[in-house]
Amino acid sequence: MTPATTFAGRKVALFGLGGSGLSTARALLAGGASVAAWDDGEAGRAKAQAQGLELVDLTRADWREFSALILSPGVPLTHPQPHWTVARAREAGVEVIGDIEIFCRERARHAPGATFIAITGTNGKSTTTALIAHILRSAGKDVQLGGNIGTPILDLEPPSEAGIHVIECSSFQIDLTPSLAPSIGILINLTQDHIDRHGTMENYAAVKERLVAGADVALIGVDDSFSHAIGARLMERRREGQRVYPVSAARALDWGFFIAERKALYREAGHAHEETETLGDLDGARALRGAHNAQNAAFAAAAAWHCGLSSEEIASGLLTYPGLPHRMEEVGRRGRIIFVNDSKATNADAAEKALLSYGEIFWIAGGKAKEGGIEPLRPLFSRIRKAYLIGAAAQDFARTLEGAAPYEHCGTLDVAIARAAEDAALSDAREPVVLLSPACASYDQFANFEARGDAFRLIARELYVHAPIAGETP
Ligand code: ADP
Repeated sequence: MTPATTFAGRKVALFGLGGSGLSTARALLAGGASVAAWDDGEAGRAKAQAQGLELVDLTRADWREFSALILSPGVPLTHPQPHWTVARAREAGVEVIGDIEIFCRERARHAPGATFIAITGTNGKSTTTALIAHILRSAGKDVQLGGNIGTPILDLEPPSEAGIHVIECSSFQIDLTPSLAPSIGILINLTQDHIDRHGTMENYAAVKERLVAGADVALIGVDDSFSHAIGARLMERRREGQRVYPVSAARALDWGFFIAERKALYREAGHAHEETETLGDLDGARALRGAHNAQNAAFAAAAAWHCGLSSEEIASGLLTYPGLPHRMEEVGRRGRIIFVNDSKATNADAAEKALLSYGEIFWIAGGKAKEGGIEPLRPLFSRIRKAYLIGAAAQDFARTLEGAAPYEHCGTLDVAIARAAEDAALSDAREPVVLLSPACASYDQFANFEARGDAFRLIARELYVHAPIAGETP
């Protein structure tokens, strides 16, 4: 745990008692602060009470007593409208911050030289964060991995000169971190997202820009227009000593970090093509299929390079990365057939990445439909040998697939896996893929996308990957 010593002897209000809220409360108490904790929901309050936290009804509190309001990232700060706690804090002149801000203050006070890698972007944050941590750990570095992925930041070990914090940051978290100044800041990409919480695309991009603007080394994607503009602006205005690098997975750059022919490359400014350094080869990297993962890998290689790793260490880390659950996760093979769990693909945009990454697809899709359905995936229908439709969206998806790709209604996931595995085994495909990439939310049949992916993995492994075939010696 990282005790929050910068609030020692002071009183703070803490709102939002989910996982990160409770972690923040523990860190504040350990650092010597007094915490007035509250949540609008009964369940959060009960959990906090069970952990011995002091609950204070913030609707009735005297806000002038507080040094800060520590807000959970899930609570609206600006849009659609500021949460009532934010309004009360502003009236009383109380600053509003989040747990990553507390970490930044601890680092500034106790270990300003500690390496802190912060990662953001619309897509690929978790993959890039996990990949960086994996490469660094494989090279023997002491890594603390967390933030928006897995462990809340204040549950990690405190920043130290020898350790490296690799932290995924959502836009909501950045918004609550005014002094964000990582050693390495990564902005992977920017597309329209979370407009409900940031008001406009411009606001959303401006929040993300802060993460790289404050970094000593800024690694910025140049493959979309929003990130490209941020990179150009930062190059122009960069501070004394700040280094800014472009990163691309779409084209070879004159300088910076990029992917060409599935190789991760680095070229120093002003150097010739022959002097390009190869940092790794994605060809054998099973968990990094697809152009989207090439983008994530380019950033991970760049971050590892800045941490002083050799190209051999980076190359080996890329090859051995095991991948994250539910993101094009290869759960097993049966002969030629690969079973892939991409349950995290809850919309057409995410499913597109998986469809682009494989050629002979037995596609399990459906669930609780999202606006627009699978119409945007039409150009990829030729890769689909057959679709196996489940859940509430089945009828709608069938209408879109009609005449473009074969499909059948399966109702539930278990039936869909059975039918897809059967057809894959009988097909002439060289490497058939039974792919769960539903392009839908899971809530019609499952608690969440994790439960859906876990069910797929279990069924695929028990019934197909590990089950004996009649006449086959086990
Ligand atoms: P995040 O943490 O930003 O949600 P993840 O690494 O968890 O991102 O990936 C979630 C999904 O987003 C993946 O399953 C894939 O469909 C898509 N994705 C991953 N990386 C990228 C990328 N660099 N560009 C576009 N889409 C991506």
